[in-house]
Amino acid sequence: MPAEIHPFPESRRSVYMDANATTPLLPEVFEAMAPWLGDQCGNPSSAHAHGRAARAAVEVARQQVADLLHCAAMEVVFTGGGTESDNLAIFGVVAPGAHIVTSAIEHHAVLHAVERLEQQGCAATWLPVNEGGRVNPEEVRRALRPGTRLISVMMANNETGVLQPLEAIGRIAREHGILFHVDAVQAAGKVPIDVKCIGCDLLSISGHKMHAPQGTGALFLREGLKLEPMFWGGAQELSRRAGTENVAGIVGFGKAAALARAGLFDGGVQRMARLRDDLERGILLEAENAAVNGFGMPRVPNTTSISFGGVEGAVLLAVLDRLGLSVSGGSACTAGAAEGSHVLKAMGIPQEQASASLRFSLSKLTSCEDINFAIWQVAEALGRLRTDAGPETNRGEAAAGPAL
Ligand code: PLP
Repeated sequence: MPAEIHPFPESRRSVYMDANATTPLLPEVFEAMAPWLGDQCGNPSSAHAHGRAARAAVEVARQQVADLLHCAAMEVVFTGGGTESDNLAIFGVVAPGAHIVTSAIEHHAVLHAVERLEQQGCAATWLPVNEGGRVNPEEVRRALRPGTRLISVMMANNETGVLQPLEAIGRIAREHGILFHVDAVQAAGKVPIDVKCIGCDLLSISGHKMHAPQGTGALFLREGLKLEPMFWGGAQELSRRAGTENVAGIVGFGKAAALARAGLFDGGVQRMARLRDDLERGILLEAENAAVNGFGMPRVPNTTSISFGGVEGAVLLAVLDRLGLSVSGGSACTAGAAEGSHVLKAMGIPQEQASASLRFSLSKLTSCEDINFAIWQVAEALGRLRTDAGPETNRGEAAAGPAL
């Protein structure tokens, strides 16, 4: 690439710190997939040897995902990602006229699905969260009414990483015989997941948040629970998700699930938590008026959402981008949305502070050097914003791109 169009013109190197948006494929995952992208060809529904080999590979992956979630293999339905898993869970069990209880901080894959059901005649209760970003299980209990069919609450929030009190909510769901769906897309591989301990009936995960390819995902569907499929066609996935399986993707997803599970026990996750804490400490030392959103709450080990008082988040993001640090202004799916973060708003964080917030999310590939680089570049970017222009001028520069 010619030097003049190098994406990081000011920086020796670049660091990716947006793992909650997507993660790089691990080499072991790529290796597992490679034969299925090369000359190993087979449709798992075919009866011949090639088909049987593909079926066997898919079933190994199903067991690997089941081991991550502590469920039976047949309870795993492969999908095309987290959004599809959430939609399959919600539209699959909620009939017109029913009542749904969900939270104000869900990812848009749940939020917009529930809004769609509202348009179709369902009723929804949107649970508030406290200033730390947690749902109160007692609010869940109070929201239940005759006709409540589903409770859907996420495990870890994608912007703050804050974990929800799922076991308490699961107990309430069971006491009342109400189905419980959990969006665990940002939790899988970062904290242990046991669907029985949670007491959920449905749970969504996504491959590309845990070093598997984009376009892979799974829904845990409790044995015996019937679900209306979203697609009509063949009898794949026990008629729960029609369409020829993405064999290479599923094999990669299975491998990533096995590696993620190992990471929960081999110190990998604890290392990630230490790095995240170092990053937070380093940034809070360098940045005046910075605060961690959701600080002190139980959180996944890889995420921190930091608000930087006195700067516009979009400008800081753009400066960091130029300096070679890729972080996010919030959810990747809402990047560019004008209305700001519904999650921070629900936590009662004032608009000004919310719009000055950035999300840093680490993966198992993040190194100590990456953390030092990030702290250094945040300090550098804040220094430039403070010296070069006041906040008003910064706002003006956001549209045109920062002049560095
Ligand atoms: N749920 C949560 C909490 C997410 O963070 C995301 C993606 O960021 C999704 C669902 C959607 O997953 P996918 O990108 O696999 O469709």
